[in-house]
Amino acid sequence: MGRDGVDNGWITFSNVRIPRTFMMMRFARVDKNGNVTQPPLAQLAYGALIGGRVSMAADSFQVAKKFITIAVRYGAARRQFSSEDGQPETKLLDYTYHQRRLLPLLAYTYAMRTAADGLYDMYYNATEKLANTNVSDKQGLQSAIEDIKELFSLSAGLKAFSTWGCGHIIDEARQSCGGHGYSSYNAFGPGYADWIVNTIWEGDNNVLTLSAGRALVQSGVALRKGKRLGGPVEYLSRSEELKNAGLGSNHDSALRDPATIIKSWESICSQAINSTVDKFLELTQKENLSLTQAFEQLSLQRFQIARIHTRLYVIRSFFERVEKTQDGPLKKAVLDVALLFALWSIENESGIFLKYNFFTPDDLDTITELVNEYCRKVRVNAIGLTDAFNLSDYYINSAIGNYNGDFYKSYFEKVTRRNPPEEIRPPYYDSLMRPFFDRTNDEA
Ligand SMILES: Cc1cc2nc3c(=O)[nH]c(=O)nc-3n(C[C@H](O)[C@H](O)[C@H](O)COP(=O)(O)OP(=O)(O)OC[C@H]3O[C@@H](n4cnc5c(N)ncnc54)[C@H](O)[C@@H]3O)c2cc1C
Repeated sequence: MGRDGVDNGWITFSNVRIPRTFMMMRFARVDKNGNVTQPPLAQLAYGALIGGRVSMAADSFQVAKKFITIAVRYGAARRQFSSEDGQPETKLLDYTYHQRRLLPLLAYTYAMRTAADGLYDMYYNATEKLANTNVSDKQGLQSAIEDIKELFSLSAGLKAFSTWGCGHIIDEARQSCGGHGYSSYNAFGPGYADWIVNTIWEGDNNVLTLSAGRALVQSGVALRKGKRLGGPVEYLSRSEELKNAGLGSNHDSALRDPATIIKSWESICSQAINSTVDKFLELTQKENLSLTQAFEQLSLQRFQIARIHTRLYVIRSFFERVEKTQDGPLKKAVLDVALLFALWSIENESGIFLKYNFFTPDDLDTITELVNEYCRKVRVNAIGLTDAFNLSDYYINSAIGNYNGDFYKSYFEKVTRRNPPEEIRPPYYDSLMRPFFDRTNDEA
């Protein structure tokens, strides 16, 4: 599909013996007699993959910001249809539905950045701890392993949902530019083909999500056995309290409050994880299924809990970053973006919020109104929010996404520069086309 310059292929071996000393044996070992010692944690063997996943979560932001910028700039310049006779045509970005398509994705782009930053911090801390721990230090190694376990599961979820999210952003941004989005002058085609491999390599997204779901079930089981949970799954320890959490008497103001929104996500995530843990224990203890069989039977639930837990992490990191921003107009503007992202995310998962009775159908109507309202607020700053990415026209490499917004002019210049009319005239130009272009009115 893409990456044509990279030499990718596959190889199979038959009757090949790998010398023992060729193996990398820091954690898993094979002795001279062929006895294998497994690593204390399977994920240690994949440690090198985690760095790739962490950076892909960050890349998702880096790539999404380019395509959302093109679409927002096009939407702010392109006019289509007038709502009243004699009035100028309306800009695409002033249509409610166009705002709905693009502005939550602009908010998602910002959210991916804050989530990736948090993941990077976790990655540096965990890998440094592991690198500085002697393999013979059992306690130190156990603590490093716990951190790596958490990192393994979070990076799997974030890699999967951020790379999927970025792929969706590129394609929705393309469609929101109409026919120009399909043009090879506007970057979307090669951008999508180049990007979408990120959903497969360094671990296929579906398989990664299932493994993140498995880790969440394991955390839930460990909690029931008395283990203390910290980090991104800490909220599971508050499951009882979260089950009874609600919006209080003023639903409208509660739905604009970051703390309440985070709590709503924690509530549905903990209930969904606990329900999966209940089923897991039933399958393994009452129905005597093996762990593998039980996990396999709960694949859909694993996928779902990984999806909502990952989204909770992203929402929380966005609100935390806003909280750290200095008070003033900037903070207010980015808070609107964060609220748009969190409320739109609730709308997308409304089935689960209804299932666990956190919101009533009326609340969901209010949320839909609020998403519209925050779209309108974010619309006011949409150009500033994309200019803030500080991307050069050279990097954007799309005539309709140029900084100056005068896209018909820059588009035409780009097309004529690449295809000088005097060089691309067909051989029949003088005999057939010129007479047609030069005809007089009388001939028409
Ligand atoms: C361009 C490119 C470059 C690559 N570069 C490298 C590289 O440098 N080094 C390297 O080691 N690898 C590389 N890969 C390989 C890549 O990591 C694998 O393609 C990827 O992990 C998926 O594995 P697979 O192709 O064997 O898919 P398969 O295992 O055949 O999967 C096919 C489908 O089945 C699903 N599936 C598989 N197992 C399960 C399961 N247990 N439960 C549910 N669904 C399942 C998957 O989700 C997927 O949708 C590269 C791949 C590409 C496309």
